[in-house]
Amino acid sequence: MGNIYCKFLTNCLSFHQKNVRFCTTLQLGEIVSVYQENPKELADKICELRRQIKDNLLSNIVPKGCQNCIYRSSEKTYNDKIQRIDLYYWYHCNCGCFYCSYRDETKGEFSDKIIYGNSKIYQIIKELYKLNQIDLNNLYVNVGGGDIGVLKEFPKLVDLFLKHNLNFSTCESSGIRYLKPVEKLLKKGKGAITVAVCTGNRDIYKKIKRRDKYLQVMKNLKRYVLAAKKYKGNIHNADNVVSKYIILKGFNDNIEEVEKWLLESKKYGLTCVEISMEFCWGIHTKKGQKIENYNYEIFDYVEKRTKELGLLLKKNTTSIELMQQGTY
Ligand code: SF4
Ligand code: SF4
Repeated sequence: MGNIYCKFLTNCLSFHQKNVRFCTTLQLGEIVSVYQENPKELADKICELRRQIKDNLLSNIVPKGCQNCIYRSSEKTYNDKIQRIDLYYWYHCNCGCFYCSYRDETKGEFSDKIIYGNSKIYQIIKELYKLNQIDLNNLYVNVGGGDIGVLKEFPKLVDLFLKHNLNFSTCESSGIRYLKPVEKLLKKGKGAITVAVCTGNRDIYKKIKRRDKYLQVMKNLKRYVLAAKKYKGNIHNADNVVSKYIILKGFNDNIEEVEKWLLESKKYGLTCVEISMEFCWGIHTKKGQKIENYNYEIFDYVEKRTKELGLLLKKNTTSIELMQQGTY
């Protein structure tokens, strides 16, 4: 038996702006559709392709889009049901971070207007539930894209997943709007939210995010923590509300700024923080460049200080991989 299996190939469905595919990594894999079909046709197509992949794997045939992929393994990871759904299918945001990886598409524009990302997605997922394609005991949903606060269909999607016994979901948000669907997920112990605050200082926030919303974001984070604490099943549920610090050259790449962020996080009741290098912006500007020393120094400092302050620390996994490599 060769390296024919992959947990994403058979267990995952990943909705992007321009297409839907099975793969959630940058390897891309097989493209299922570019959304030309109606929701029912597309859901049927997904079923059919999943069936074909299963038959092919049983005959040792790897899909074309996966043939050169390094992530394939010989360990049998086939599942009859979808266990992971990624929703990364819109760019629209209410924040204007200068480092945003979607700037080519948005041209840096942002607004508070709430609009549909792609109204078909809700219908497609509903059809997939009808077709019994989604695991009712073990579904993880990861939400990325622009901001969920200005995504019109977000509340409906959350209700749909909750109705079908979602296991857990993670999402990222600018934190500018307080979101009841996120509160609902936190109260049920079924969700986590990460907000990249990147500073403990209103003026620096304004420079990085191009919005004067620092205080509003911190107050929203505090409300999310209080909501998370209402869940009785897991005493660490407050750790599912995370303030993230992306180290940005010339803006917050120093210990003084990091210290302010940690103290502010503590003040607003957060119990968990995440530290990350900046690599989205770097996709355009840095090719094989040596990783600057301040990244290593800040990671070490945050590790030490979070222990002293009693905060749980997450280290961004892509950052760790890049830092071990030494270049980006
Ligand atoms: S391209 Fe690789 S990671 Fe993606 S689904 Fe195929 S085998 Fe899996
Ligand atoms: S919050 Fe996220 S999507 Fe919005 S501008 Fe910032 S990085 Fe981009």
